[in-house]
Amino acid sequence: MIITRFAPSPTGLLHVGNLRTALFNYLIAKQNDGKFILRLDDTDPERSKQKYIDAIRFDLEWLGLYWDQEEQQSNRIGRYSEVAEQLRKEKKLYECFESPVDLDLKRKKLLNMGKPPVYDRAALKLSEDKKVLIRKKESPYWRFLLSHERIEWEDQILGEISIDSASISDPVLIRADGQFLYTLASVIDDMDMKITNVVRGSDHVTNTATQIQITQALGGDLPKYSHHSLLTGPSGESLSKRLGTLSLKDLRLAGIEPMAILSHLSRLGSSKPGELFSSLEEIREGFDISSFGAAPTKFEKQDLFPITSKYISGLSFSEVKDRIIETPGSELLWEVVRQNLIVLEDFEYWMNLTENGVSPLVEEEDRGYVNDALSLLPKSKLNEQSWDQWTKEIKSQSDRKGKQLFLPLRKALTGKENGPDMSRLLPLLKKIPAKV
Ligand code: GLU
Repeated sequence: MIITRFAPSPTGLLHVGNLRTALFNYLIAKQNDGKFILRLDDTDPERSKQKYIDAIRFDLEWLGLYWDQEEQQSNRIGRYSEVAEQLRKEKKLYECFESPVDLDLKRKKLLNMGKPPVYDRAALKLSEDKKVLIRKKESPYWRFLLSHERIEWEDQILGEISIDSASISDPVLIRADGQFLYTLASVIDDMDMKITNVVRGSDHVTNTATQIQITQALGGDLPKYSHHSLLTGPSGESLSKRLGTLSLKDLRLAGIEPMAILSHLSRLGSSKPGELFSSLEEIREGFDISSFGAAPTKFEKQDLFPITSKYISGLSFSEVKDRIIETPGSELLWEVVRQNLIVLEDFEYWMNLTENGVSPLVEEEDRGYVNDALSLLPKSKLNEQSWDQWTKEIKSQSDRKGKQLFLPLRKALTGKENGPDMSRLLPLLKKIPAKV
């Protein structure tokens, strides 16, 4: 069975970049009748917050990305200790004592000499007597002893990867305060939860190299790895600085529809054309992880609005009625304006317009014309022919035609330059001013 996981750290709100990872993992599991696990990587007790766990669940449910199982790393500390002990016994985990300042100095020295800043394994050379002495003052932190060889895997997106492990520092797996780090916890979880496919951002490629060796040291089976490219801003800049405004919460508050984001992210950066889908099932059918490229992928929030608008225009009244304030006229109004909404909230504008009217938008030079036109409005109950009759009458009495004739009327009656077919809207207007 295919088993995937989405493993956010609950240290902030999910953003579009996280969603890309979640969606890919979800789709791969569901395409194969597999299992999709939500794993909360919360080994950092200071930065992990319950409010973010709640927000992650809320966002995923909002998008319809339901998970089959939920796991939390903070519940598994006992298991991590057990495995760490095993690695210690096998001498694959070694204690170190350098302070962050010492490490920084070492790094700078190597960089100055034009060498890669790889940890020098000085701690391995300490004698037992020396360690006994240092332990009296310092608690050790623990590194995994990489075996120096090439680490290779066939990445489902990046293709053949080959990394010389001598170019990587032995990863720290346990901090001096005893906190297990993600690099170890994730390997143990992936093994215990029988994860078959790990899909995550390309910022994890080096982690993967070390995690492959850790998995092998523990005798585990390796999953298939896919590292998708990272999203960037329109001119290629990293999204991280703008992520605050690209959280799923922000997109939701801006009126973006889940299906618009899901459709967009299921194709952005792939060789397949963008498309608006109507369901996750449909997205899943056309999804192929190998169609995604390795190059950074440009993401522009504004692109989500036309897709949202298109999605909304395709919704029937019964699909939206629970999300709007329903009134006796709202069904008819929905049919008239649904092609003219960018986000669903825009419907309120038209509801309010039909019920209460708006402050007219009138250019000074059009005022006389608009007032003359209003005096010609048919006195009988308005219907879908009224607009045509009315504008014909105006045309016969003024020298205006085309846009000059129609646009000032639309602006005066709707307060906007664009909008739905006036013949259909006019009979729904309950308040039309006699004069502007
Ligand atoms: N908690 C890690 C992150 O958010 C998970 C990475 C992974 O998928 O292994 O980056």
